[in-house]
Amino acid sequence: MLYKANQTIEGEYDVIVVGSGLAGMTAANKLGKNGRKVLLLESHNKLGGFATWFKRNSGDHIFDISLHGFPVGMIKTCRKYWSREIADLIVPLKRVRFVNPQFEVETDFTKEHFTKILIEKFQVEAEVVDNFFNHLAAMNFYDENQMTNGELFEKFFPGRPDITRFLLEPITYANGSTLEDPAITYGIVFSNFMNKGVYTFCGGTDQLISKMKDELLKNGVDIKLHTKVERIVIKDGITQGVDTGKQEVRGKAVLSNANLLSTINQMVGNEHFSSEYQQKAAAVRLNTSSAQVYMGIKQGESIPDIGDLIFYSVAPTFNTDQLLSTEITSQTFSVYYPKTRPHLNDRYSIVSSTNARYEDWQDLSPEQYQKRKERMIEYTLQQIEKLIPGIRQKIDFTDASTPLTIERYTHHQHGSSFGTKLEGLDVSMKMHQEIKGLFHSGSVGIIMSGWLGAANYGVIQSHQVESYLDQV
Ligand SMILES: Cc1cc2nc3c(=O)[nH]c(=O)nc-3n(C[C@H](O)[C@H](O)[C@H](O)COP(=O)(O)OP(=O)(O)OC[C@H]3O[C@@H](n4cnc5c(N)ncnc54)[C@H](O)[C@@H]3O)c2cc1C
Repeated sequence: MLYKANQTIEGEYDVIVVGSGLAGMTAANKLGKNGRKVLLLESHNKLGGFATWFKRNSGDHIFDISLHGFPVGMIKTCRKYWSREIADLIVPLKRVRFVNPQFEVETDFTKEHFTKILIEKFQVEAEVVDNFFNHLAAMNFYDENQMTNGELFEKFFPGRPDITRFLLEPITYANGSTLEDPAITYGIVFSNFMNKGVYTFCGGTDQLISKMKDELLKNGVDIKLHTKVERIVIKDGITQGVDTGKQEVRGKAVLSNANLLSTINQMVGNEHFSSEYQQKAAAVRLNTSSAQVYMGIKQGESIPDIGDLIFYSVAPTFNTDQLLSTEITSQTFSVYYPKTRPHLNDRYSIVSSTNARYEDWQDLSPEQYQKRKERMIEYTLQQIEKLIPGIRQKIDFTDASTPLTIERYTHHQHGSSFGTKLEGLDVSMKMHQEIKGLFHSGSVGIIMSGWLGAANYGVIQSHQVESYLDQV
């Protein structure tokens, strides 16, 4: 059932899932399908977490936040853990482009085409390209591999910052990876994308989440929106349920899809964890945040096909630190043509995304904040004009989001868009070894982030929850 905002939750649950990101929803759906009594609590007024959208001008414009592209594996995950209908609406992005001072390239983002570009455009020997892809394929998470991304690229493509840019830039946007991050995280995520290209959901995020909501309700999951869990109740090292500030709800197990560090420090409380675990958690670094500019095209206007996803930069070379700067030099443009939402009347929109630092937005006065947002919008309009001359006249809505927007809507500490760095994965996975019946799932460790990573991590953790429930 779908609880109304002011309704009291009745009864006890096998599992209470806190947060409805793709990990939380996928876990809830699987547990519900398996006959477990599941309650899904979400603080926002809609399901989806980062997999979200918003409408403006009385619904005249609709914008997707994180529907820029995901790996082919999402089809299998949706077919297995959601429905064939959802899986069948996943379609490939045809045109991915790179536009920067070092090179201009268009690709369908498949391994075959990347290989061709590396050999023909970047003049790398075929054997080196093969070795590179084979090296990535052989990477194993459990190996003690300390190599960084920077070292990986230097090993295969020494002295070639242009190739580093070509190979790393998309993944930096996808999960905040830097040259200093462990190469294993890059290898896994890049190999996922390189499998068969980049995909999107035909119908838009709103249709996806609406179908997922129907599926959750069909599988008996109780859902309550507008409900922020304040505390996860623990007694004598065993999970008892949650406290929403208005009521306590009992659950044999709780799966938190909220930010890893907020779950530990705020919702549970450090005192419930061993000192060794607390130390490990304290060392977890959050990933960076994002800023976006939304541009709505007037009803009745159209724009030419300039590609679906464009990695655009005016920076002479690739620099992960510079990608975070408020002095934007690099951004992605996701262009949503009528094919994204065939059910709407020929609508177009463009979303520009950049990686961003929370600290750069945190302490501004309201005036400074507004000014910085306006500057970001103006800069973005100037850049998109270069790709589509005259587009300004066709845009009748612009707005921007910042790391503070992300923090406000998702409660992620410091507006972290991609969870935590690698060390967060171990802390997340071992939470249930510390407190009986308490589990975490959601963007962590770089690998488990993004639509596919989060959804799959939801599945992994739902197995852990089931094993626990079978014991108790
Ligand atoms: C700008 C941007 C662009 C992106 N683009 C892409 C992309 O193109 N492709 C891709 O694969 N990935 C992309 N991602 C990443 C991807 O969207 C996320 O990794 C993924 O959706 C995260 O899912 P999650 O399960 O970790 O939960 P989240 O999406 O983080 O959701 C957590 C949910 O928990 C809720 N919550 C938190 N605390 C509480 C509480 N105390 N009580 C109740 N509810 C609570 C929040 O409101 C939220 O709904 C992007 C992310 C951003 C920010």
